[in-house]
Amino acid sequence: MAMLSVKDLQVYYGSIHAIKGVSFEVNEGEIVTLIGANGAGKTTTLHAICGLVKAKAGEITFCGQNLRTTDPHKIIRLGLAQVPEGRRIFARMTVQENLEMGAYIRKDKSGIDEDYESVFKRLPRLKERRKQIAGTLSGGEQQMLAIGRALMARPKMLLLDEPSMGLSPLLVNEIFEIIHDVNRSGVTVLLVEQNAKKALSIANRAYVLETGTISMSGDADTLSRDEKVRKAYLGG
Ligand code: ATP
Repeated sequence: MAMLSVKDLQVYYGSIHAIKGVSFEVNEGEIVTLIGANGAGKTTTLHAICGLVKAKAGEITFCGQNLRTTDPHKIIRLGLAQVPEGRRIFARMTVQENLEMGAYIRKDKSGIDEDYESVFKRLPRLKERRKQIAGTLSGGEQQMLAIGRALMARPKMLLLDEPSMGLSPLLVNEIFEIIHDVNRSGVTVLLVEQNAKKALSIANRAYVLETGTISMSGDADTLSRDEKVRKAYLGG
């Protein structure tokens, strides 16, 4: 059984039919990427999974639980953590406090302390800046913090919405290396990206979203060699 399964998802914003029957699956251990142009419906799909927008129809299950009938704040407790578009860190809090917020659902103090250490080990720049006000971090550091904060919930699966947004190519490489590394440590990943080249380079499988429908899917290597994908998403 897939860890996350989305079947025939339909989402409307008023009369705008934003998601028109999207289906996909993410299996335990995978990195799956949802690629697509601006406005294709990537963020809406993630928001529907997390309960931030209401689906009109379709099935969304995570580890056997129906997410459509699960309160959004309970979804994190099932082991599904998100790294939202634009990071959404708490700008006036310190790095350390942001990480603490990520662990707010947990009570296992010793486990939390272990996870601080593992987050700081994976993201040493956060350790150096643990007392710094998060709003003064660079864009790349804020993205690292958003990832670190999500990891503090000890998730089974991480949902990432355009982690490359607004970052220099060097930092994009660094962030993708971190995501790959997090996956190798046992966290399943659903990655939404406009940067199809980078996303396909670390993903096992991919789905192409076009104006609210899945137009293509397959393993990431095959898709990155596909003529249509190359022309539309990889700059020829
Ligand atoms: P981007 O990369 O720009 O975030 P996306 O692929 O994530 O693009 P969505 O943000 O999911 O796309 O948008 C899908 C469609 O739904 C677009 O046509 C968008 O204009 C529309 N849409 C998104 N949010 C709203 C909203 N709150 N109200 C009305 N329409 C919306």
